[in-house]
Amino acid sequence: MKKKTHLKLIVRTTIISTLLFFTFSCTDSEVVYTNEIPQEIIASLEKAGFATEEGLREFRDGYLVETDIYLTRDQIEVLVPNEEGHPTTEQYRTNNLVSGFRTIRVFMDPDFGNFMQNAFDDALARYNALNLRLTFVRTLNQNNSDISIEAFFENSITLGFSAGSPSGGNPARNIGLNTLYYSDVAARPDAATTIAHEIGHAVGFRHTDFMNRAFSCGVVELNNDEGDAGVGANHIPNTPVGPEAGSWMLACSNNTNRPFTNADQIALIDTYAGLVINGNTFVCSGNNTFTLTHVPQGGTVTWQVTPANILNQNTGNGTTAVLTPASNLVSTEATLTFSVVINGVTFNSTKDIWVGKPDVGPDAQFSNDPYGSTGYFCSSHYGNTYSFPDAFEISSHQYRLKNLSGTVLYTSSIRTGRSGTATYTPPAGWYIFQARATNACGTSQWIGTEVEYVDCSIGGGGGDGGEEGEL
Ligand SMILES: [Zn+2]
Repeated sequence: MKKKTHLKLIVRTTIISTLLFFTFSCTDSEVVYTNEIPQEIIASLEKAGFATEEGLREFRDGYLVETDIYLTRDQIEVLVPNEEGHPTTEQYRTNNLVSGFRTIRVFMDPDFGNFMQNAFDDALARYNALNLRLTFVRTLNQNNSDISIEAFFENSITLGFSAGSPSGGNPARNIGLNTLYYSDVAARPDAATTIAHEIGHAVGFRHTDFMNRAFSCGVVELNNDEGDAGVGANHIPNTPVGPEAGSWMLACSNNTNRPFTNADQIALIDTYAGLVINGNTFVCSGNNTFTLTHVPQGGTVTWQVTPANILNQNTGNGTTAVLTPASNLVSTEATLTFSVVINGVTFNSTKDIWVGKPDVGPDAQFSNDPYGSTGYFCSSHYGNTYSFPDAFEISSHQYRLKNLSGTVLYTSSIRTGRSGTATYTPPAGWYIFQARATNACGTSQWIGTEVEYVDCSIGGGGGDGGEEGEL
C-alpha cells in the first residue's frame, strides 16, 4: 500500500506538471484493473487485435480498451473476427471505416466553455484542411449528430474516451471528455489534439504505437517502480526522432498541442482521400474541362493523359485539365490521371475517357455470330446477331446490306447499344454487311465486310438449334 500511495503522489505531481497521459496506465494500478477483467473478454479483445496487457479497465457498462476506447461487451463480441478475417494486431486503422462521401455532424456539449469550444473548432479544422471525403461540421443538435462529444466528470485517471470504431459505415458516435482535465479552467494545450484523437478513433484509427507504448508513454513494464512512472511522464530518453513522434494517434499524450504530422496527414489521406475527377467521359472537338476535387491543402497537382499524342496537350499542372483532341481522326480510349503530391507522397486519381467518335475505322472489327462461331448469316430465317467489339464508346448504331456491286439493299433504323439482330434476310449469296456507330462525339464512317448468307435449313445448321448433320 505504501508503494501505491507513493505512486499516487507521483501521479498527482504529474498532473500538476501537466504531463498527463490519456490515462496513467503505465502505473501498476493499471495491472490491478486488468486482473479484474474476465478472461473471455480479454480473449475476445485479443482476437480483435487489441492489446490487453494494460490500459484495460471496467468503465460504465463495458470496458475501456487501450486506455480510451470504450466498448460494451456486445461490441467486443461483434469485433471478434471470423476464421478468415484474423486481424493483425495493432493495425494503424481498423477494418471498419466510414463509408462514402459524408458530412459528419459533430456535437460538442455546450457545458464546455469557450476554450474547449475553440479547441473543438480547431480539431475539426485540422481534418477539413485535408479535404477528405469526410467533412466535419459542428451541429448544435445532439439528436441529429453523427458524433457526440459529451462532458463527464470522473475523479479518475481517465481523460476521455471514444466509443470504439465505425460500424455499418458510420462513425462511432459517443465521445466523452473528462471535465476534470478538459475545461476552460484547465485550458490544456492538448485539448484540440485530444478531441482530434478521439474523433480519430471514431472514424477508425488505432493507436500508432500501442505495442510500443514506450514511444509515447515511457517505459512500460509490469510492476513498474515509481521511477519508471516518473519517466513515463516524459518521452523516454533517446526515443528515435521519427515522423510519428508527434502523431495525434499516439497512445499517450504529453499534453502538448500536436497538429497532424506529415505522416498523420498521409495516413488520413490514404484512408479517406476524396480525390474525384469531375468531367464528361467523352472528349469531343473543342475544349473539354476536367477538374480534380478534394485536393488536400498543400498538395501539388499535375495531370497527364495516356496514350500520348491524341490531344493537343497531354500533360499539365493544377486541378483543371482542358483537353482537346489532336484531330478529328482521333478515336480511342484513354486515361486521365491526376497526381497529388503531398509530404513527398503521391496520390493518383484516374478516369477513363473516350476521345473522338466511335472506333469503327479500318482496323475495327464487328462480328456476325448466328451460331456462335460460324461467321455467316442465315438467309432463311431471323436470328442473325452481330456486335461491335468495344461497348465503351457506342450509344447507338445502324447496319445496312449492300450487294457486291455496292447497291444498298437495306438500311436499318438507328438501334440502341452496340449489338443487334440482322433482321433483313436476302437470298443466299455474298453481300457487304456494313455498320456505323454513334457516341456523344458523333457518328463514325460506315465500316463493313463481305459476308455470306446461306440457307441454313438445307445445311442443317439450323439457327433455331436444329441438329447439325452431314449431307
Ligand atoms: Zn486513443
